[in-house]
Amino acid sequence: MSVSSSFYLGDEKKGQLQRLYGTAFESKELLEDHLNRLEEAKKRDHRRLGKELGLFHIDEMVGQGLILWKPKGALVRRALQEFITEELDKQGYSQVFTPHIGKLDLYRTSGHFPYYQESQYPAIAERDVLEKLADEDATCANLINGLSDGTYEGYLLKPMNCPHHIKIFASDHHSYRDLPVRLAEFGTVYRWEQSGELGGMTRVRGFTQDDAHLFCTPDQVAAEVTGCLDLVKKVLSTLGMNEYRVRLSLRDPESDKYVGSPENWDKAEAALREAVQTLGVEYTEELGEAAFYGPKIDFVVKDVIGRDWQLGTVQVDYNLPVRFGLSYVGADNAQHVPVMIHRAPFGSMERFTGLLIEHFEGKFPTWLAPEQVRILPISEKTLENAEAAAAKLADLGVRLTVDRSSDKIGAKIRNARLDRVPYMLVIGQREAEEGTVSVRHRDKDDLGVKSLEDFIADITQEIRSRGL
Ligand SMILES: [Zn+2]
Repeated sequence: MSVSSSFYLGDEKKGQLQRLYGTAFESKELLEDHLNRLEEAKKRDHRRLGKELGLFHIDEMVGQGLILWKPKGALVRRALQEFITEELDKQGYSQVFTPHIGKLDLYRTSGHFPYYQESQYPAIAERDVLEKLADEDATCANLINGLSDGTYEGYLLKPMNCPHHIKIFASDHHSYRDLPVRLAEFGTVYRWEQSGELGGMTRVRGFTQDDAHLFCTPDQVAAEVTGCLDLVKKVLSTLGMNEYRVRLSLRDPESDKYVGSPENWDKAEAALREAVQTLGVEYTEELGEAAFYGPKIDFVVKDVIGRDWQLGTVQVDYNLPVRFGLSYVGADNAQHVPVMIHRAPFGSMERFTGLLIEHFEGKFPTWLAPEQVRILPISEKTLENAEAAAAKLADLGVRLTVDRSSDKIGAKIRNARLDRVPYMLVIGQREAEEGTVSVRHRDKDDLGVKSLEDFIADITQEIRSRGL
């Protein structure tokens, strides 16, 4: 498969050897499948396609693992966000916005700080703390220790949206009648990844989660988790990802890295197990894979070439509400602690978009495509008709361009295909006279001549129904 060089026994003083990598299979057919999959993976690589199709850029000066969404990529993301927002509205979520940083005390309370420091950006000290330490000629170790033990105040780039949402919930008094409260945000978070682990959109240092937190009574947990699972299923089926399995991640009873009481963990794990059993999907239980504050359900999706991707997560959490002293008034007029559910169907917009680029090989379904239609006048003579058709489509919100170049029609079609544009409308002399368009599809070739009105009716229906 490949070769590399290495030192004998890993010792650079010893001789240099050639290492040969090979793969063995039981049959010639299995080997061929494997080789085809490798070839297919190379063809679909989102880093290459992302560049070719102008979707995103990573710039050394901005920083590794920080995605710059270019206009076309931003259109894909916007379509995804609109889709999820519509579903959230139907399910009774409320949208919120929160800042990108929060005080260290917030994360001391949540348990994110000073634990898990290795996966976060270092704390940002208050300006006056830095100035004071500079006056005292203090060492860097002084600062780090002082931030960790709370002597100095500072901020963290948020590694999670949960604490901010918790504080929104806590800013009002709640009765059991108002629950569940469902707060959703496309919230950007920052994690420290080793630079060697970064690559494309799938391993990044800043990313936006399609995040939400639900606050409910213990009786509502099962129904709310089921609602979250339904949402993940809806998202996956809309995108044609129908092959997935579900993983129930539980705590490792031997470990002490978890916050909260064993009783609460037992309750949370039981609630998730109950919900996952109603899914009718194959699932596995894995010990030690839970988050430090609660167990979770993950969807593991198989893409078109058989690779596994971990996506949508649903977590039940009895612990953070206790740590933050959350409460609501129950039917008995006494104070109770709500249960919290964390969930993100896509996981992160970056990773999910990377997956979609590979899954569709850049050929997004029309509702997601950054450019849905390209109008190709055969010559200057029909440019005016092309512009008129473009105005009508743009008025209806269809994303399109007109190819105004002097290229021959064959080249115009080839370019549109390379850009993975779903529909090409060719307008020649005859079409101009008849008020029609000659429709081509990037995969289905020639769809024949249609009136512009018929084409508009078809494509708006296809977009509205989010057809595949
Ligand atoms: Zn959360």
